[in-house]
Amino acid sequence: MRRRRDAKIIATLGPSSNSLEKIGELFDAGIDVFRLNFSHGSHEDHARTHGFIRQVEQERKRPIGILADLQGPKLRVGQFKNKSEELETSQHFTLDMNDIPGDNTRVCLPHPEIFAALEVGSQLLVNDGKIRLRVLEFDKEHAKTEVMVGGTISNNKGVNVPDVVLPISPLTEKDRIDLEFALSLEVDWVAMSFVQRAEDITEMRELVGQRAAIMAKLEKPTAIKHLNDIVQLSDSVMVARGDLGVEMPQEKVPVIQRQIVRAARREGKPVVIATQMLESMIASPVPTRAESSDVATAIYDGSDAVMLSAETAAGLHPIEAATAMNRIIIEVERDVYYRKSIDASLPAPGDTVADAISSSLHHISNVLPLAATFTYTESGFSSFRAARERPEAPVIGCTPYQKTARKLALVWGVHAVLSAEMSSVDEMVENAINITLQEGFGELGEIIAITAGMPFGRTGTTNMLRLTRLKEL
Ligand code: PGA
Ligand code: MN
Repeated sequence: MRRRRDAKIIATLGPSSNSLEKIGELFDAGIDVFRLNFSHGSHEDHARTHGFIRQVEQERKRPIGILADLQGPKLRVGQFKNKSEELETSQHFTLDMNDIPGDNTRVCLPHPEIFAALEVGSQLLVNDGKIRLRVLEFDKEHAKTEVMVGGTISNNKGVNVPDVVLPISPLTEKDRIDLEFALSLEVDWVAMSFVQRAEDITEMRELVGQRAAIMAKLEKPTAIKHLNDIVQLSDSVMVARGDLGVEMPQEKVPVIQRQIVRAARREGKPVVIATQMLESMIASPVPTRAESSDVATAIYDGSDAVMLSAETAAGLHPIEAATAMNRIIIEVERDVYYRKSIDASLPAPGDTVADAISSSLHHISNVLPLAATFTYTESGFSSFRAARERPEAPVIGCTPYQKTARKLALVWGVHAVLSAEMSSVDEMVENAINITLQEGFGELGEIIAITAGMPFGRTGTTNMLRLTRLKEL
């Protein structure tokens, strides 16, 4: 089974889709990676869903990626006497550490780290940014604010502090427990929410080790300031437009989205565009024209993957949403101008042997059309570098490790296959020819490029390029 497109699709699972049957249907409709969202659901729920995904993987005989997404430090106000209050624009409102129920003049904000990091003029956004407060004066235990934009505030509403760097780890106690649990399930990717600095990724890496690859969710202005460092230290990044659009003016999100895509493509790290992609499909069986256009734009920019959130987790039409996304991607990738814009935005190769080989594939395919690039990879690195070149012919990522094959499900243009460790060049060539033919990536007489590292079995050594014609063996 092969997909007829290069960009990948992630679907979030939830009540609308976490049955064995629906996961199978979603896979058939085009989903490459499934997201377990640890902001919702119990460990038992996630374990069961995880088991279903692995069952579908076995039945379909294709590696499937699983992404565990940690909630991160979602800040919240406390409770109100009357459950909710109306805040009028330009009234004063106080946030404090006092545990008693709130009223129209104050409420508890049980996060001392916020008070420690505030400045006069800092903005606090409540309830997805609907209410906007500006700090007039503060100390360690309270902040008096002016209501800039009023609205309804109610029990436990979320708080965002966009222009303040909070001295907190983006891993809460709950995140640490969820992380260990997700790793015990052997998920392939772990996503970290509200990353602020490169050190956050280092901290995560220490906990995760080699057990999974790390995706940094970019949803804070401070993360954008440290974009290049964060991209370098992570294995992949997500443009988390939901929270990003609360923390920053809306109109900046499309510009930042492209900035992130460029930075990630430059480093050869998979980049995911997320949130509200086909939002109206939560209730409707067809997307709006604007939504189709949003997905298309992400693909034209060269993103590795697009993500469905509530559309598949809690919507009425999860399968239709996956189908719509699949169709939009295929249509864009057929456009000759898609290829032109991808080529025009190719980053320069790094000065390594692996990149010299990967980038030479463009030149080769201008002389001799290639049916596929066959990459032998241990960690997945060679396939990542080949995908960074966005070659016209598909990249086959061949690995002895299931973990690597699953990780590659997220990467642009890569079709992962499992096969035993190779012990000679002849065996490697024969194996590549067999797999390419079997998986339907080429026909007899066509040419493939094979890349590998010698000596075998060592990671990060890509140093060999071989061209071979597909023939009966
Ligand atoms: P979330 O992350 O769905 O976990 O909030 C994505 C986003 O903020 O866009
Ligand atoms: Mn978010």
